Amino acid sequence: MPRTLTIDQSLCISCSLCVDMLPDVFQINERNSAQVYNQRASGYAEIESIRAACPLGCIRWEDV
Ligand code: SF4
Repeated sequence: MPRTLTIDQSLCISCSLCVDMLPDVFQINERNSAQVYNQRASGYAEIESIRAACPLGCIRWEDV
């Protein structure tokens, strides 16, 4: 089943860690919040690593 990488905006504190670690996957948007730009720009292991590193645990996979 395909999954979409998402960020829970209600939890994200815009620390930029995910953007610094995987700038091809995450970006800071015009509202100064992190967003997923391209989930296919990196491998699963790298994405799982930043999911574990996010201080708020707000990067998630959602079934689509
Ligand atoms: S690492 Fe987590 S809290 Fe920090 S900007 Fe990314 S999603 Fe938001």
